[in-house]
Amino acid sequence: MRPPKAIFFDLDDTLIRAYGRPVEAWTRFLTPLTEILSGHPVETARDAILTYSRAFWSDGGRHKEWRQKLSEARRHCVREGLASLGITEEAVIHRIADGFTAEREAAIELFPGAVDTLEALRARGIRLALVTNGAAAPQRAKVRRFALERHFDHIQIEGEVGYGKPEDAAYHALLKALDVAPGEAWIVGDNLEWEVAAPQRHGIFAVWHDSEGDGLPAGTTVRPDRVIRAVPEVLQGW
Ligand SMILES: [Mg+2]
Repeated sequence: MRPPKAIFFDLDDTLIRAYGRPVEAWTRFLTPLTEILSGHPVETARDAILTYSRAFWSDGGRHKEWRQKLSEARRHCVREGLASLGITEEAVIHRIADGFTAEREAAIELFPGAVDTLEALRARGIRLALVTNGAAAPQRAKVRRFALERHFDHIQIEGEVGYGKPEDAAYHALLKALDVAPGEAWIVGDNLEWEVAAPQRHGIFAVWHDSEGDGLPAGTTVRPDRVIRAVPEVLQGW
């Protein structure tokens, strides 16, 4: 396998661990809060929130709108999820939603080897772009928090430019910014639509980051060109 001229990296759950393992995260967060769950077990409250959240985020149009205001979206999902259990007190909703948002935020970390891999790719002369969906302020804050600017020739944040994955404009802009043809570029990410199926339609080689080792979901027709379990695997086989 020949190295590409350019690689486009996703941010959340590709270079940094951000939203992975929600079942475990919710269980951990809710366990000390049993006294405000109106007698419901932690697992019941967790599943009510997660069931509502999954349905909420499964719609592409709604996803695009609400990922620009994640704290508000989390309050909405907690409110609606817990309403199904008869928990409607707004102070409880806020304590749970905002507390979880803060805890998730604090727990974000770089995946092992992510920065070393970016440095190794740069040393080989491969052009790099960072492409992330979401609002301008929180996404830019993560880029700064982990000092990622210096590794990239181009940083493309949905909330800053006005378009995001899987829109055609997002991939066109990446190719143009790094001055490469689709066949000369790879994209690396954890989302099977945004970083695999959609870029493949443009002729970009798609590397799926399966950081949890879950494998492809049952029934999916999406076929990544390559699957990696850890960021440094990008370098293997050259
Ligand atoms: Mg991602």
